[in-house]
Order: sequence, then structure tokens, then C-alpha cells
Amino acid sequence: MSTSSFRRCAFLVGLVLLVTLGFRPGRGEEGQWPLSRIASLDLKAKGIEIPASEIWNSSRASLVDAVCRVGGATGSFVSSDGLILTNHHVAFRGVQSISTPEKNYLRDGFAAKDRKDERSARGYTCRITVGYRDVSAQVLEAAEKVEDPAGRSRAVREAMARISKEAEKENKGLTAEVSEMFQGSSYVLFLYQVIRDVRLVCVPPRAVGEYGGEEDNWVWPRHTGDFAFLRAYVAPDGTPAVYSPDNVPFHPKRWLRVNPKGVSEGDAVFLLGYPGRTYRHQSSWFLEVEERIRLPFYSGLFAEEIDIMEEASAKDPAVALALSPEIKGKANVEKNFRGKLLGMKRLGLVQKRRTEELEMMDYIEADPARGKQIGDVLGDLEAIYREVLAEGVEPHLLGRLTRDCKGMVLAQDVMSGAALRMRANGRRPAIWRDGAEDKRRARWESMLATHYEDVDARILAAILRRIVAVADAQEDTDWLAEVLSWMERHGPEGKGRDALAVARAVYAKSHLFDPATMEEMIQKRPEEVLRGGDPFVELSFIIQDPVQNFRRSAGVRRGKLDPVMARYIAARQLFRQENFCPDANSTLRMTTGHIRGYSPRDAVWSKPITTLRGVVEKNRGEEPFNAPERLVKLWESKDFGDYASPELGDVPVGILYDTDTTGGNSGSPVMDGKGRLVGVNFDRCFEATINDYQWSEDYSRSIGVDIRYVLWVTDKLMNAQWVVEELTAR
Ligand code: ASP
Repeated sequence: MSTSSFRRCAFLVGLVLLVTLGFRPGRGEEGQWPLSRIASLDLKAKGIEIPASEIWNSSRASLVDAVCRVGGATGSFVSSDGLILTNHHVAFRGVQSISTPEKNYLRDGFAAKDRKDERSARGYTCRITVGYRDVSAQVLEAAEKVEDPAGRSRAVREAMARISKEAEKENKGLTAEVSEMFQGSSYVLFLYQVIRDVRLVCVPPRAVGEYGGEEDNWVWPRHTGDFAFLRAYVAPDGTPAVYSPDNVPFHPKRWLRVNPKGVSEGDAVFLLGYPGRTYRHQSSWFLEVEERIRLPFYSGLFAEEIDIMEEASAKDPAVALALSPEIKGKANVEKNFRGKLLGMKRLGLVQKRRTEELEMMDYIEADPARGKQIGDVLGDLEAIYREVLAEGVEPHLLGRLTRDCKGMVLAQDVMSGAALRMRANGRRPAIWRDGAEDKRRARWESMLATHYEDVDARILAAILRRIVAVADAQEDTDWLAEVLSWMERHGPEGKGRDALAVARAVYAKSHLFDPATMEEMIQKRPEEVLRGGDPFVELSFIIQDPVQNFRRSAGVRRGKLDPVMARYIAARQLFRQENFCPDANSTLRMTTGHIRGYSPRDAVWSKPITTLRGVVEKNRGEEPFNAPERLVKLWESKDFGDYASPELGDVPVGILYDTDTTGGNSGSPVMDGKGRLVGVNFDRCFEATINDYQWSEDYSRSIGVDIRYVLWVTDKLMNAQWVVEELTAR
């Protein structure tokens, strides 16, 4: 099927779904609308003046063509030459990777002098949604006759992969992916154009792009210039290609026009973007696992790891630079999870959803036919989640041990390398072939680039301490007991329970931290590598079975959950008489709202627009509130250019609005009622971290950088007038 007929077909499917399900708008401004629902929204009532066909159109260019997924978040094309506007925190890894302590672009900012000076943002890709088609029937048919739960979940995954593969064959040059919209019941195939050469164009200094640091993260009022410019490049013939100096700027089908006058309080706005994950339609049992296990485990461990890394960073700028992405990523999650926990407790969310579920079941069971269709859905969910509660933090501990502990990362690489090298040369993945020694060395060196023995030993100790605590608290310790005896074996005499002493001892003992030794190890058979007695290799052998077992039971549970969740969602839809939006799943969504303040606490009202004055007021001259001197001078001399708001008499910096966003919406274009660019989304207020489970018009607020601040910083502070000209060209 060609792309255009694909789009047309998708549109028809969307229409049919609409007619059969009927439509009722969500309350307030809740709703992360998928493409299939945009045409049915009452845009006028939401203050949007352009027709839905301007936003998404299956047969001609629309605003969706100007939005891309980049760096795990969102960006928008803002020129015909592939200029992308996104967040500073999205471009962060790219800038960090070209920085050194001497030439520190992360600290000082990066502004290419011209196109030739734009630098590769290694590892970044950019994807644009081209079309979609509902494939629920095909996926469900594949799983229909499979009784065994693990087999069922495998059948679903295989069907999703097969459908994607077939679609890629039919649509040469495009990437296809099937996404689950409602668990166990609804699947949509998306087609993407993927661009593989993304470059850094202009990124403000960290003291602007991350002004306020973690202290202000997830906080309103906000004064952060969290924006950056990238550019998409393709081969000279227009096809996607990896980085090459011969590549040329990509010409998107559509790009956004800036409204340099920005927005005022009360104005309508809407966003297009790629929200990552929400859990609004999950059961009270799911929420209980979140509240009792996942959120406290991650926020606690990450807080400890961040402290360890920050302490080391404070002593050495090179360590600070190398560890900065890791610290930033973990700090973002830690504070978010802390906010979620607080919000869950404040709202009594688990109990609230449980009460709702009981009411829902009363309604369902009042009609015997409905009751038969839905069955004992709550009992089924409880049985599944009791197992998850019983597993507790164990799978998470294993997950972090294999990810956060450098020794374990290397040990697993070496063990899998040794195992794969048992195959004939041609049947090995390229990295393990003869002749790939240099590539392997480079891979290990890059893994070692963030290895600092003291930091890593203390992080391992933080995990081991938790393992000891779990082992001490229960009788059936299986793999935990083996880890304890590993600690006894490798720790200093009589200190086998002292997590830090053991961690230091194993780091001192291990030979893994040298690429030459690793190369020697992978030349051996796996049994020989194990006999070599490296403590990390031993530990990765010990945890191999439990990791597999937890994975297997998760697969079985998933297989059981799919059909149960399909009934749960059906029950919710019947009860609420509402065709609600599927939870966010990293596919393209639209959300609408207004520039609007809120009350975070009793007697406090927060206005929805901040200004440059606030940046200067917060300035302490030291991190995280260390505004560049030049910025302060520009403000003092009231050098606002054309970027000030006449009402405010100052340059607007941050904007607050009641749209429905989550992680992944970072970098989403904020557009006014006419579809013009007025800001870049980058965060939510602290109370809205709970959004992912429950949206509310009282506390759900998203935060963006005002386009006038983007222009002012780029022009006045970064002196990148050519970028401003490209951005504002008609
Ligand atoms: N800061 C978030 C992100 O990184 C945006 C959000 O969660 O609201 O995507």
C-alpha cells in the first residue's frame, strides 16, 4: 500500500471507530488525543481557530509533519531547512559528548558560526509520523487460540513484529512499528520516516538552559531557558543517511511559523508531541505496586546514587562533566517519583481507585449480560498483582545491579562475548568477529569513560546493602543467600556483611577494567572465564537464573494480564460511558489547554507567565542560580530588543498552561489558536507529577519556555542572529 492510500485507509478506520464508539469529550482539558481522534474534537470550543485538517491530514502536509521525535522526546521543525527546536535537556547528551573540561560547551553554550560549523549530535535520530492503521484484529487473531499465557504474550509480540516487517516491505524507506493503545485490545501500526544525521546548531549555556537545576526542576514559577536548536540532515538525494559531511539539510513537508508576539494569560494553546507513558487506566492493584514498591525503591536508591556522584563531581570538573548526563537523568526521575508518591498519598489514590472499581462492578453486575462479559475482573487482577507484591523489590534490585554497577556491565559483556565467540565467525554479531578488535576496544573504552572506582564501589555498596536487608527480612532467600555467600568469599576477612568493604574489595580485585584483559577473556570458553574467579563474572553467573526466572514470570503475567485488562478497560468504558483516550505510549498525541495559573497551596495563587526580572531576582551568582553576567547586564540596560511583552514591560520567560502532558512531551511545540509557535514545552509543576496516574484541572499544569525568551537568548545572549533570521523568515 502506498503512503497516501495508507493514510486514507487509516483515516477511514478512525472514522469507523468513532461512529461505533461515539464521542464525549474528556473533562477539563484532559486528553492526549491520538491522530485518529483529532478530526472529531470540537476545536472551536477549545479556542483553536484552525481546522482539524490543518493539524493532521492523511493526504497533504499538516502540522504533524512539522513535529518529530528526537532524543527520546519531541522537537519541531522551525525552518524549511530542517532546523529543529527542542529542549536543552534533550540536546544535553549531544553537547556533553562534544565538550571537554577545556572546551566546555555544556557550561558555556554552543552556537555554530554557520551551517558548516554544526556538530554531529552522535546517537541522535529524528522520526516523523507518516501514517497509521488499526491492526487490532490481526494482532488479536494471532493470540486468540493460544491458551498458555506466556505463549499468548509471545504470539502478540510476534504478530506486532510481523505486521511491522510487512509494512516496511510495502513502504520502502520507512520504519514501521505497532503500538499497543489499550492493553490486550487495541493495536495500531505507525509508519515513520527516520532521519539519522542530527546536528547541534545552538544550545544556550547550562546556566540558562538548566537555570535553577534540580532545585527548580518540576517547579513553578520557573525561569529556565530549556531550549536548543538542532538540525536534521539527509543524503544529497534526500534519503535518510548516517552522518556524512556530504549530507544536506532535510526539507520537511511542513515547518512551524513563529508568533513573535507570543501569548497572554487566558489564551488557548495546543501541543503536538510524543508523550511517553501514563497509567490512567490501570487498576488500583497496579497503583498499589507503584506506591509500595517501584516508586519508593527507585527514588530511594537514585537519591543515594546521585549524592555519591555529586560528591565526586564537586572535587573534579572532569568527573562532573563525565557523570553529568547520568546525574541529570537520575535526578529527574528521583524528584518525579518523589512527587508522585506525595501526590498518591495526598489523594489517597489507591483507595480512591479501589472505591471507583467497586462502584464500577456494581454497575456492571446490575445487568447479567454485562456481568457475564466482564466476569470477575477485579479478582483476576488481584491474583496477578499479589504475585508482583510478593516479588517485592527483588527484580528491581537485580535490574539495577546489572545496570548501575560498572563491574557487572563489563562482566556481562565479557560473558556474552565469550559465549557468542563459540559460534562460527560469520554467525557472530559483528562486534564479536575476528578483526573487530578495535571496535571492541572502543566500546569498552567508552564504557570505562565513566568509571571512577570510588564512585562505582559506593554505588555497588548501596545496592548490596539493600540486598542484605531483603535477605535478612525473609526466610526464603534462594539467590539472595548466594549473593551473601559471594560477599563473604570476596569481602575482607570478617567483613562479608559490610557492603562498602566488600564493594571496595571486589573493585580492587577485578581485572575487568582493562580492555586488553577483556580481549583475552573473550578468547576463552565461558566456563574458563568463570573459573578465572573474577568477582563480577561470578556474581553475574549467580544472578543469571534469578534474572531469567523473574523475566519468565513477568512474561507469564503479561500473557494473563492482557485479556484481563481488555475486560477491565471495557468495564471502565461501559461504566464511564466514555470513549476515553488510550494511555500515552510514545506515539504522536495532541493536547489542548489555556495559559492559566493555579493554586499550589492554601492561599497561594501562581500567575502563569514569568519574566526576565525573575531570572535576575533568583540569581545568587552560584549554581544552580548563576545567571550569566551578560544576561544580567542586558536586563539592567533593558536591552529587550523586540522581544518584550508590552503588558509586562519585560521579556516573558516561562509559561504555564493546563494541557495534558508527560515525560516525552519535552520539546513539544506550544502553539496558539492559529497554529503558530509560541513556546517549547519542557516540564510540569510538582503537583502534576501525579498526572501520570490521575489528571486534574486543579493541579495539572505544564511548563514551557516562551518563544520570546528563546528569541531573546539566541539573539542577544548567544549572538546567533542567523538562527533567529532562519527561524523568523517568512
Ligand atoms: N520534563 C519532562 C520530560 O523530560 C516533561 C514532563 O514530564 O512533563 O519529558
